Amino acid sequence: MKTAALHNLGCKVNAYETEAMQQLLEDDGYVIVPFTEKADVYVINTCSVTNMADRKSRQMIHRAKKLNPDAIVVAAGCYVQTASQSDTLDLSADIIIGNNRKNELVPEIHKYLEEHQQNIDIVDINDGVQDYETLHVTKTAEHTRVFIKIQDGCNQFCSYCVIPYARGRVRSRDKEDVIQEVTKLAESGYREVVLTGIHVSSYGVPGEYGLIDVVEEVQHIPGIERIRLGSLEPRIVTEEFAKRASLVTKLCPHFHLSLQSGCDATLQRMNRKYTAEEFCESVQYLRKYFDHPAITTDVIVGFPGETEEEFEETRRFLEKIHFYEMHVFKFSIRKGTRAERMPDQIPEQVKSARSEILINLAKKMSEEFRQEELGSEVCVLMEEEVEIDGQKFWTGFTKDYVRYAVKSEENLHNRLVTGKAEQFLTDEILFIENYQVEK
Ligand code: SF4
Repeated sequence: MKTAALHNLGCKVNAYETEAMQQLLEDDGYVIVPFTEKADVYVINTCSVTNMADRKSRQMIHRAKKLNPDAIVVAAGCYVQTASQSDTLDLSADIIIGNNRKNELVPEIHKYLEEHQQNIDIVDINDGVQDYETLHVTKTAEHTRVFIKIQDGCNQFCSYCVIPYARGRVRSRDKEDVIQEVTKLAESGYREVVLTGIHVSSYGVPGEYGLIDVVEEVQHIPGIERIRLGSLEPRIVTEEFAKRASLVTKLCPHFHLSLQSGCDATLQRMNRKYTAEEFCESVQYLRKYFDHPAITTDVIVGFPGETEEEFEETRRFLEKIHFYEMHVFKFSIRKGTRAERMPDQIPEQVKSARSEILINLAKKMSEEFRQEELGSEVCVLMEEEVEIDGQKFWTGFTKDYVRYAVKSEENLHNRLVTGKAEQFLTDEILFIENYQVEK
């Protein structure tokens, strides 16, 4: 029996690609074991979004070598891609696979085994990120919700980000190929699909089709009941987009619009291509066409040059929009980006203080959003059984991504449950006492 273990770091796109690589290994006869166990092959799908992600990527490569010094260790993804470009690549892996060559994983392992190479195999790190690489997933660990990568790369060059260097320029997966994969996943029982990418708003062939067109087609696939979208660039949400989206009844009213700052001067230094006012307009379109949409976002605090006034402008803007969820990041320098060379870098303690203010604000807004759902009839797609304070509950999410719990002896996995919550089970989970399970 040959065994393999995989470890994923980073975003949903990476998670999707890790699932796809797992599938390639299974198809080649590998038995997948947990990453903590001894395996013949270890695959680490690395991430480079922060310095911390770089460090974790290196740690996992070393951990794999320690777990089994005779194993083949494969490092793939963004960290190895960017590190190779800045000559800081950690060479303790046996095979290194850049983005866009992950589908060559199995042939590369075979080649390595045949040649018993002592040298590191580097599979197209530097020039292979221009075409769309098609990886397929037909089953995933979650078994309820499945992520489909439909787009790769980014042309935006935000001044703090290494992704355009790590993932290359924008390219999209063929629409028919997306439909085929979702159809297969629906046939194997998945009910919820998340269409994702590095810059998913750029999906499509200009002048022919775009993101909203593929969403409209996916809704007709039998078995699919929910469609979610990955992180959106606010400029994609025009009135026409919001209107067409609202007609797709399977589309979840849960939109992640990436903000980063609510201050125009900061946005400009970040090289973001919209103003706070334009962002606000996009939110208004969503609120006009959807009933109580859940709007979530990312914010960076302590970007170079962020004054107290700029931070305060952002804080007021966040409060005005009233997000359901906010991910707050302290700015961290990425090597080779324009932000690295910017003057007025913000001291760590100022970043921490600002981050704490926004995390508290995020918590308050989240609670208010959930509070607004008390007493409303909701439909929950159940995912897993969890233990809370010594008692077992089944939990799942509504279309607007609020987590609910019920008590049940029956296995409710992947079942739809309807009812009203009158109380909270924890700060983040609402509890439905009387409910109906779909037949
Ligand atoms: S939009 Fe900006 S932050 Fe997002 S991947 Fe592209 S360059 Fe990076």
